[in-house]
Amino acid sequence: MPIHPNSHGSVKERIGTIEKADRFPPRTTRQNLAASRSLRTLLAPLEELSAHSDRLFAAHLGWQDQKGVSGMIPRFLFTGPGDRGSFLRVGLFAGVHGDEPSGVEAAVELLHRLHADPGPALGYELFVYPVCNPWGFAHDARWLKSGTDMNREFWRGSDEMEVLVLEGQLMKLAFDGIVALHADDTSSGLYGFAKGHQLTRHVLEPSLEAASRFLPRNFDKSIDNFQANAGIIEDGYSGILGAPPTQKPRPFEIVFETPHRTENSLQVEAHVAAILTMLESFRSMIAEAQNI
Ligand SMILES: [Zn+2]
Repeated sequence: MPIHPNSHGSVKERIGTIEKADRFPPRTTRQNLAASRSLRTLLAPLEELSAHSDRLFAAHLGWQDQKGVSGMIPRFLFTGPGDRGSFLRVGLFAGVHGDEPSGVEAAVELLHRLHADPGPALGYELFVYPVCNPWGFAHDARWLKSGTDMNREFWRGSDEMEVLVLEGQLMKLAFDGIVALHADDTSSGLYGFAKGHQLTRHVLEPSLEAASRFLPRNFDKSIDNFQANAGIIEDGYSGILGAPPTQKPRPFEIVFETPHRTENSLQVEAHVAAILTMLESFRSMIAEAQNI
């Protein structure tokens, strides 16, 4: 199945195509995102900002498969201040499960805040994929259109276009850090999965602490059937969105989970606080390592 990123019409045309599948009419305010489920409504303010920004760029990933079915995964690039020669590259992925809007809104909110104040992105090149499963987002569904859970399909020879396109990104960009935002309706508190680089838990720990200003942390000994330690799980499902198995050295890889049944705006704030803290912790960890 051929993939032709960025080769099918303008950004506006591609977003328009996706929007035809939406069940709800477009809304005009960012406050109504969870209800509106419109990609155009969600992304229009960022598109507008990126058209006039020297830090924020829209570079969406479009494709058409052999049967002529087209699709698009939105992607934004944010370049923080700092020395261009030594950027840390982080991938932020939200909306893998289309019925978990808080991560989607947090990814969008983060870009708005960084555009207003780029300081927290010092030394970073951020690739943000706010809606990895556009069909699921439009239909308030966990699954891809095929009925598959996208987050069990990575690096297993999947033929799902969304998975292939994101695997291509993960291979090509070889991120130093990968963050996936999720919400769990069986958890009463915040927690995260730490994978990849052995120092990952030291990136996750302060981010849980920062996010707990908004929502409680889950201190259960077992979360989602995994052994947990103060909200940190060092295990996980196979097939989740993550670095290519062959990538060396391993990046830090975090799946950050908010409790889905709590107030959405608090989940958004918790996600944003967590990401900003991860960026800060990882940057200082790298700086320390370079000074040794
Ligand atoms: Zn999820």
